[in-house]
Amino acid sequence: MSGAVGSWINGAPVATAGATHHIIDPATGSTVADYALATPADVDNAVAAARAAFPGWANATPAERSTVLAKLATLAGDAAEHLIAEEVAQTGKPVRLATEFDVPGSIDNIDFFAGAARHLEGKATAEYSGDHTSSIRREAVGVVATITPWNYPLQMAVWKVIPALAAGCSVVIKPAEITPLTTLTLARLAAEAGLPGGVFNVVSGAGGDVGAALAGHRDVDVVTFTGSTDVGRKVMAAAAIHGHRTQLELGGKAPFVVFDDADLDAAIEGAVAASLINTGQDCTAATRAIVARDLYDDFVAGVAEVMSRIVVGDPHDPDTDLGPLISFAHRDKVAGMVARAPEQGGRIVTGGQMPDLPGAFYRPTLIADVAETSEVYRDEIFGPVLTVRPFTDDDDALRQANDTDYGLAASAWTRDVYRAQRASREINAGCVWINDHIPIISEMPHGGVGASGFGKDMSDYSFEEYLTVKHVMSDITGVAEKGWHRTVFNKR
Ligand code: NAP
Repeated sequence: MSGAVGSWINGAPVATAGATHHIIDPATGSTVADYALATPADVDNAVAAARAAFPGWANATPAERSTVLAKLATLAGDAAEHLIAEEVAQTGKPVRLATEFDVPGSIDNIDFFAGAARHLEGKATAEYSGDHTSSIRREAVGVVATITPWNYPLQMAVWKVIPALAAGCSVVIKPAEITPLTTLTLARLAAEAGLPGGVFNVVSGAGGDVGAALAGHRDVDVVTFTGSTDVGRKVMAAAAIHGHRTQLELGGKAPFVVFDDADLDAAIEGAVAASLINTGQDCTAATRAIVARDLYDDFVAGVAEVMSRIVVGDPHDPDTDLGPLISFAHRDKVAGMVARAPEQGGRIVTGGQMPDLPGAFYRPTLIADVAETSEVYRDEIFGPVLTVRPFTDDDDALRQANDTDYGLAASAWTRDVYRAQRASREINAGCVWINDHIPIISEMPHGGVGASGFGKDMSDYSFEEYLTVKHVMSDITGVAEKGWHRTVFNKR
């Protein structure tokens, strides 16, 4: 994989003039590939290519766009092994996760939008005024700038790029500089599928210069972003200078509420799976278990027992459950937060250590009795760490669930239909699961509220980010002297 090309502009790989970047395998610390970073000048070129390509792609028929996306889904399926290998190498995620979640989920999403491209509709045409026919045109918004994170590089690129393409937009994407490989492969496959040059451009560079240049570019129409809340706010501020629309998918701190009538075994299994997926580097990961006092001790013991059986190690081994964190720097940040937890009242029940392995590994960690004010309870850790607190009654459970600035995802565990309904209504989040936590599907939207951002990825709802609504109002009387003219001038 060495000697990769980092950027793709106007339908072809381009040589960029930035410094050489080494993509590091966090499982070993060794270099996976080198590429030249893009520069802000490359952003200008990519945006110009997207601008030039936009009218042609926007005017393609829905069927033509659908055909290209369907072909892309097929080609991505054919290239699945390659995509899995790249994803595992650049992120260190376990091969089972990449094989059963990242890559098939991405392909399914492309498939979904290949179909959805042909279902774009407006409201009914009607004569609301009596003298006119009103109709709605939903038009592609233009050039989309998008910036994505490193945790699910392929999926995040697909979630942003594919609905934009289905809607008729052209795109410039900046993947995280440490994980550009699968985004570049996606662009290459899209070209092979027949996507015209310039419709899908990739600039791989650092956030501080290339990302900032893209977010604040005058000649884009929409800026979509997935990443941390802090950077999302910078992106929004940069786009606001030009009054550009934004869509932000930001951080999370998902509550996992276990009521006293829950299936305890299911809740324990679910908490371990939902807190450790992708080594906890998942914006919807369960991070705050809030458990009925009667079940608390058994829940803590059960989660610790299942966590102790998790296999940490080589992500290429299909028996591995938990890979490394994305980098040594991130591993050290997670370790620091866990190390400070006891000073704030937390009790480390299991984990809290690095295993004796060469990569950026950290053991599955459960911290009980955390204070509501403590750092591990309030801030996004983005590692294999679950915190747990007891609650006294349903009001207290829901209060604790909502005691966060974030609002991306949550779950409630109960066999009582009324409790489930109440939790789904009262928990402030973009998604509430009942008796599960994590599954996503292409047909349904993903997106948060509050510090987790706004707007939607996936499903028909994501089209709202990439389409404008235009009202067309046509006179149907054929008369020169309209009734409303009297409000401006008297009859001559
Ligand atoms: P991040 O640090 O915010 O970076 C996200 C992207 O923004 C990267 O491509 C980064 O580039 C770029 N960037 C950094 N500074 C920038 C700037 N000043 N202007 C423009 N772009 C800039 O996030 P991350 O560490 O990659 O990802 C983890 C975060 O993503 C977590 O907070 C997680 O919750 C969130 N996330 C949210 C969702 C969701 O759907 N809500 C999904 C996945 C992840 P470089 O890294 O190349 O510098």
